[in-house]
Amino acid sequence: MTRRKRLLLLVLLVLLLLQLPFLFSLYRTYRLHRYLTSLAVIPVPTPPFQDIRGGIHVHSAAGGHSRGTYEDIVRGAKEAGYKYVFITEHPKPRPLFQKLSDPDVVVIYGWDERQGAAGEMLCTEDRSICFQSGDDRPVASHAKGLEVFNLDHSASSNDSWFVRISFFYHRLLRPELFFFKLWTVDRSYLATWDRELRKRPLTGIGGCDAHQNIGIVLETTAGDEIFSLMLDPYRESFRAVTTHVILLPNEALSAETVLAGLIRGSAYVAFETVADPTGFSFHALENDRARPMGSTVRRGAILVAQSPHNAVFRVFQNGELWQTAAGATAQFPATEPGFYRLEVYLPDSPPELVRNPWIISNPIYVK
Ligand SMILES: [Zn+2]
Ligand SMILES: [Zn+2]
Repeated sequence: MTRRKRLLLLVLLVLLLLQLPFLFSLYRTYRLHRYLTSLAVIPVPTPPFQDIRGGIHVHSAAGGHSRGTYEDIVRGAKEAGYKYVFITEHPKPRPLFQKLSDPDVVVIYGWDERQGAAGEMLCTEDRSICFQSGDDRPVASHAKGLEVFNLDHSASSNDSWFVRISFFYHRLLRPELFFFKLWTVDRSYLATWDRELRKRPLTGIGGCDAHQNIGIVLETTAGDEIFSLMLDPYRESFRAVTTHVILLPNEALSAETVLAGLIRGSAYVAFETVADPTGFSFHALENDRARPMGSTVRRGAILVAQSPHNAVFRVFQNGELWQTAAGATAQFPATEPGFYRLEVYLPDSPPELVRNPWIISNPIYVK
């Protein structure tokens, strides 16, 4: 073998070895995929309330540093099975798009803006209802809720060159599962929430912080797209984290009822790249009457949890882990006053799912 050939062989060998960590990362995704597709759907009773899937904290090009239009948002929302979407724009002096309404998705318009010491707030258009964007600063007294998960913060906390290169490998094989490389439920947000819940009721929401702006897009000077490789199309961000609102059986779906449901804490956060939570419920039974999350019930009420997949239910009482149960349904008699919230995990699962809950409920308050 000539020296040149030997050198070439050596270079090839090094290049091959360099692929190994990425192949291992793909293997872990494959293992996760196999686990998720093996999950059996367990028949559970029909939940006692209407479950409205939707998403909060969405940006478009109207607020800058995004490529999305309102049409893109509504299309993505439908693809993700949303019944409502809450657009929170960075305020700009002039509106860029005509507001859209759609017969199938309730579109709520609002703002994402800094409000002094309170930090980033997600508000309705008239700023009468605000939710605080997740971080560990104290919760503003006018906040009706707190983002207990933010997809953008989660992705940033996992950002590295390794993860970025790994994206291209996933793009070829399992694009939708790349989410798991960016997914960390930051427990410091949950701790902030629990701290505030000791003082007053406060709704936990999930934030997509969707911008549809990460990736490579090649276009002609006229603006026609030649090539696009987006990491965060709306559809994917929307599926990644959802905030379901629970409406009473006779309540009609509208922007008003969605916002009212959010304010009263009848809501839960789910990560739907993991699994579809349809059939999930966390409610209280008080004198045989079902009461949704956000309700205040008397001591002795039974807390009921049910999941469409076998699950591990972890109930937190006043912010501390209180009881754990496994199965598709579980009941917990609440004998002491306090706030009770549920985290749902999947059993015997790969590490990504041991670390992170699949569903985070809002509390039921017991007096
Ligand atoms: Zn932004
Ligand atoms: Zn934002």
